[in-house]
Amino acid sequence: MATVSVKRSVTALATSAAALLALATPALASDVSAQAINLRTPFDCGQVWNANTRTNHNPQLSVDFQRSDANNKNVRSSAAGKVVTRRDLGNTSYGRYLVIDHGGGWQTLYAHLNSFNVSLGQSVSTGTIIGKVGSTGGSTGPHLHYEQKLNGAVQRVVLNGKAVVYYGNTSITSSTGC
Ligand SMILES: [Zn+2]
Repeated sequence: MATVSVKRSVTALATSAAALLALATPALASDVSAQAINLRTPFDCGQVWNANTRTNHNPQLSVDFQRSDANNKNVRSSAAGKVVTRRDLGNTSYGRYLVIDHGGGWQTLYAHLNSFNVSLGQSVSTGTIIGKVGSTGGSTGPHLHYEQKLNGAVQRVVLNGKAVVYYGNTSITSSTGC
């Protein structure tokens, strides 16, 4: 009899745990995909930037980070990872740009850089200085073109858990490395 009663309570526990999981799974699944990695604002602690999004941007979900004295500001890695692309496209497209792979299918891209502070294949930490803001490639003024990609597809940008406005402007104060 004692054995039977233990079995019953274990079964009851398993059943309620399964019910809870079934309830929680849809919400959890979307939270996990959006927050699998905490990508941080790619600038010095305390610096304020305007994150601009617009429907005619290419790729459309990219962000242009702007401020009046943007030129040569530090660009910092949004998370730990490895530099998988370091290229100079000259006067076209991204100009000097970097891609950092963060694992789990996540990559971030930083374009129009004046200069690079990392080499191809280098491992970086969250907030490592990877380059300087510039206006290289098809850019008309100093700013940082920035993308967050999951499995190769550009995503709506989320910085330290805060979603950037689509389409419009979001004022963001960097807390990276604070
Ligand atoms: Zn851009």
